[in-house]
Amino acid sequence: MTMFNKILIANRGEIACRIIQTAHQMGVKCVAVYSEADRNARHVALADEAVLLGPAPSRESYLRIDKIIEAAKLTGTQAVHPGYGFLSENAEFAQSLADNGLVFIGPPIGAIESMGSKSAAKTIMERANVPLVPGYHGENQDRELIKAEAGRCGYPVLLKAVAGGGGKGMRVVWKEAEFDEAFDAAKREGESSFNNGDMLVEKYLTKPRHVEIQVFCDRHGNGVYLGDRDCSVQRRHQKVIEEAPAPNIPADIRQAMGEAAVQAAQAIEYVGAGTVEFLYDEDGSFYFMEMNTRLQVEHPVTELVTRQDLVEWQLRIAAGQQLPLTQADVILRGHSLEVRVYAEDPDADFMPATGRLNYLRTPAESRYVRVDTGVIEGDLISHFYDPMIAKLIVWDEDRDLALRRMQQALEDYRICGVKTNLGFLAKLAGSESFKSFDVDTGFIERHHDQLFTKTEIDENRYIALSACYLTLARKAQAVNPSDPSSPFNRLNSWRLNHNYAHPYALIHADNTHKVTVLERDSDYLINVDGVEFQVKGVLNNDQLNATLNGHQFAVAVFQQDDAITLFHDSLQFECQRQVEIHDAADSGQQGSLKAPMTGTVVAILKAAGSQVEEGEGLIVIEAMKMEQTIRAPFAGTVSEQFFKPGDQVGDGVELLALEPLAEDATSAAPEAE
Ligand code: ADP
Repeated sequence: MTMFNKILIANRGEIACRIIQTAHQMGVKCVAVYSEADRNARHVALADEAVLLGPAPSRESYLRIDKIIEAAKLTGTQAVHPGYGFLSENAEFAQSLADNGLVFIGPPIGAIESMGSKSAAKTIMERANVPLVPGYHGENQDRELIKAEAGRCGYPVLLKAVAGGGGKGMRVVWKEAEFDEAFDAAKREGESSFNNGDMLVEKYLTKPRHVEIQVFCDRHGNGVYLGDRDCSVQRRHQKVIEEAPAPNIPADIRQAMGEAAVQAAQAIEYVGAGTVEFLYDEDGSFYFMEMNTRLQVEHPVTELVTRQDLVEWQLRIAAGQQLPLTQADVILRGHSLEVRVYAEDPDADFMPATGRLNYLRTPAESRYVRVDTGVIEGDLISHFYDPMIAKLIVWDEDRDLALRRMQQALEDYRICGVKTNLGFLAKLAGSESFKSFDVDTGFIERHHDQLFTKTEIDENRYIALSACYLTLARKAQAVNPSDPSSPFNRLNSWRLNHNYAHPYALIHADNTHKVTVLERDSDYLINVDGVEFQVKGVLNNDQLNATLNGHQFAVAVFQQDDAITLFHDSLQFECQRQVEIHDAADSGQQGSLKAPMTGTVVAILKAAGSQVEEGEGLIVIEAMKMEQTIRAPFAGTVSEQFFKPGDQVGDGVELLALEPLAEDATSAAPEAE
């Protein structure tokens, strides 16, 4: 076979779209599969055919091997691309495809099996003399034994679910006293996410980099590496920024890692795209971590520096062709960076967020800027799937230039309706430490203060801009009343060119600003809480160009009902037009014991009646396969647990009742001098 006529993509979101794009360029027809939640998804729209798998939960749709095979048969598909995640590293899936005469666009089953378990992979690499981090990866899963092994490597240690991936089922343990709770939690995560609670433990390196090698092998015995990537900037052990090539690695070490990776792949008779991940220590030594037997999320950075299409390579190899290049022909040029744009709240420990993309603007794509995404404006980011919205990838001749491209592209990326990490990414990409590549896996934690402090803003200025926008929008509406039901047309106090100061009350971060806008001959006089701005402005769709006291601003604006969002540089400013008097006496109670998001209760750590210290774990909620421990905001007694394991809880629901310790018990200690 020279090439397939039709393939099925057993995935969704950006990766399904990405695969369809290349397949189409190669003249290969694509079948999409989808869940009920994804009926109108972009990957379905892009495909030539699409087959419904089942209800929204992955287990009932994207993980249903039988349904996928049925869909492949129904559509006359020859091969199946699994993307990443879901069934991409599932040997049973690859086997079922083979049993049904379908080609799996991925490695042989044996290779998936060998690398599917982190502990089995370590055993193979150990035999092949690839350096490993000290630790225990044996079969005996007795907690006490593993604890003893942890003690032998010395704390801190890292617990990993042997079947884990995506940072799940992984816990750093700093001291022995924390071992049991961490072990149980990681084990539960392993069980719920991977159906396998087996754990390994290894020494936790405190300042390593994550450097990985992209390898490719064909069925004819050829293997190459397409350079390396640095993915050290992580949160929750998940990658945030990736780049190629990995900066500051001596050429001989780079080559040694590349060759070790190809050897590792060939040792397991690998075929297709694979990634060998290493921890790279400060002294230049590197240790095998794991091998991912699929295309990686971050493959685009390799594509941009090698100018190769890795999905095309995958299809060619799966169709039995030779590798397109030999090692000597692999030439890297320039530098590429990728950020993962997520629906999440960086200020709440990067908790996944859900919501509708009410407003979505992406940076203009060019040879320097690429956006890989599976969503369009109006789509819902639901709690059923990974909350990644897009990958933003840039390229330029060197790292500094590429970083500037990234900063600009992040400014041009605008989203309303769901919390995102865009502002955080902008801070990260703009930080001096990232620029000078003072980077290891502890980067975010080490630079926490800098990355998480709110940028000081001149609130009055943005309120004035918001008022300017409201005025111009209202005026445009008055001149062109295309929508007679619009609230602009109901406000009869508005008079053009009249000496009347229109009042607004605009709320930002719980502050209500009193604003008046007076229209004069050639400008507006906007008064914000007594501070005056002379303002000129032009509104063109969502683009506002305004001059405030001689200072010019170009901002993008999105309004939904009474909420206004301004985008200026990398700042996103939100305010609300007051329409009714809000209850100011808010219940801003500290240390809420409410569910931070919709999810399932997986464990009750403290039963009713328990005395707890501040910071102790009380209850564990799981959402999107991620566990979140709710901790005691103060010392007290759990008077009631409202839920039991297995219960579903909605976002913001009260989980338990915690009574503070009696006054005299806590304040008995005399004040220290
Ligand atoms: P996953 O398969 O869940 O992605 P990995 O084994 O690839 O898990 O590890 C994810 C990340 O965790 C790594 O990129 C690295 O930052 C960190 N990590 C893994 N092992 C260690 C270790 N022994 N010491 C320090 N950090 C580690």
